[in-house]
Amino acid sequence: MIPRVLFVAAEAIPLAKTGGLGDVVTALARAVHDRGVEATVLIPGYPQALEKAQALRPVATLDDIPGGPVQLLHGTMPDCDVPVVLVRNDLLFAREGGPYQDPHGHEFGDNAIRFGALCHAASVLALGETRLNAPDVLHAHDWHAALSPLLMQQRALRTGKTAVTSVTTIHNLAFQGNFPLHFAGALGIEPRFMDGVEFWGQLSFLKAGLAYSSRITTVSHSYEEEILTPRFGCGLEGLLGARRDVLSSVANGIDTDTWNPATDQLIPARYTPSDLKGKVASKRGLQQLFGLTVDPFAPVIAQGSRLTGQKMADVAIDALEMILAEHPRVQFVALGSGDADLERRYHEFAARHPGRVGVIIGYDERTAHVLHAGADILLHGSRFEPFGLTPVYSMRYGTVPIASRVGGLIDTITDHGPNKTPVAGATGFLFDGDRPQDMADAIWRALHAFEQPRTWRKMQRDGMLGDHGWRASAEQYIDLYREMTEGSGRGRFKVAAPIDVVLPATATSSEKKRA
Ligand code: ADP
Repeated sequence: MIPRVLFVAAEAIPLAKTGGLGDVVTALARAVHDRGVEATVLIPGYPQALEKAQALRPVATLDDIPGGPVQLLHGTMPDCDVPVVLVRNDLLFAREGGPYQDPHGHEFGDNAIRFGALCHAASVLALGETRLNAPDVLHAHDWHAALSPLLMQQRALRTGKTAVTSVTTIHNLAFQGNFPLHFAGALGIEPRFMDGVEFWGQLSFLKAGLAYSSRITTVSHSYEEEILTPRFGCGLEGLLGARRDVLSSVANGIDTDTWNPATDQLIPARYTPSDLKGKVASKRGLQQLFGLTVDPFAPVIAQGSRLTGQKMADVAIDALEMILAEHPRVQFVALGSGDADLERRYHEFAARHPGRVGVIIGYDERTAHVLHAGADILLHGSRFEPFGLTPVYSMRYGTVPIASRVGGLIDTITDHGPNKTPVAGATGFLFDGDRPQDMADAIWRALHAFEQPRTWRKMQRDGMLGDHGWRASAEQYIDLYREMTEGSGRGRFKVAAPIDVVLPATATSSEKKRA
């Protein structure tokens, strides 16, 4: 039996995207869909999503939802036939700004209600209470969706219906959806379910997903190991340790059609691993776009990620100041948005180095493609990194990454090593630490390798030829869905009581008191 799966998420490109989550949800849904899984994506009905989704038609109106009644609209994703359901409540979702924030970068004050509404809608769909087929598996992605397994079980107990098996995927443990406990009432969480939601005196969406899902996955093998430790566990390492037997990882892939230098219409010129002429033209285009001196021999380092502490955006400026002072030719471009203070510092950095440093503050898909195609080196520092799509895009475009030795970056990049001759199959440079000197040392290693054209070509080629697609990962997810639904009819099982989760003694303040 091929299971039917409901993906629940806050983002799915091209309907909504602020980062890697949006890329992954759609690419994964498409990959499993292409292999026969009936995967439907449920996301909020943001105006852009309502505009872009195809053939939308109403399938249900749900009255008893936090934040007011919602309409469920069923249609398909543009450019592929993956079914999509949008949760429409314009008061909640038709707002200026992005999925989570207003135009000034402030989180919406009612995000608990907004994503609570999404999770309630998911629980209704999961129990087959609309005219759409019920799924066999509820797949919640990140905190925004992570209340759905709990709400589904609660609803099943209340209505006598059967709940389906569920999996929560952690795309980033640092974002947990923690809100004041008093939201529990508005979100309709019953007292008997509070144990799995309370987190140090707050209400945590992500904790609920980790406590009440049948399975938990994350997006790289190294990150799976890291999140069991206090350094990377963000306070949830105890709960994750207690649920170790249901925790596993499936590495992300990338959409190799969208990110393909041989066919990409968003870049100045196309190229292949055996003919990089188009990359030379793309480099010229990048230098022009960012206002740099056009110089085919200047090593161009690029950064294309959120300007935040996670991405070491604070460290990069200081590291690059050291490099620019000592290397006569090196150039740097950055595309990103994020912390207001960092955005200002990047502007000032560019102003200090006209012709050598170019900065575009904003979020723009086309510029991201040009950046990956035109640069020689991608700089991707990270204090923690569940997977790290950006360096994989860069490798696919023959742009050699320098990245932190953490999380998914360890799994996707083969480090050049300390010697002049790279290790076999090297595709980039990994470094430890988060001081400017740590990053600068790694940049120097890359610049030295860049001066050896044969070495460099080989690294570019090995990166471009790597298997970055979704095939293997999609198959692993399908195996997981099968395993989860095996022997239980169409994946359904009767829930007698909330899943009995052993919570760590230190998990919540009230649990500590009880202990
Ligand atoms: P994260 O999900 O932590 O932000 P990833 O590297 O896994 O990091 O994924 C980031 C995704 O967001 C990539 O697709 C990257 O190209 C994209 N991205 C980040 N910042 C920008 C930006 N300013 N403009 C366009 N795309 C961006």
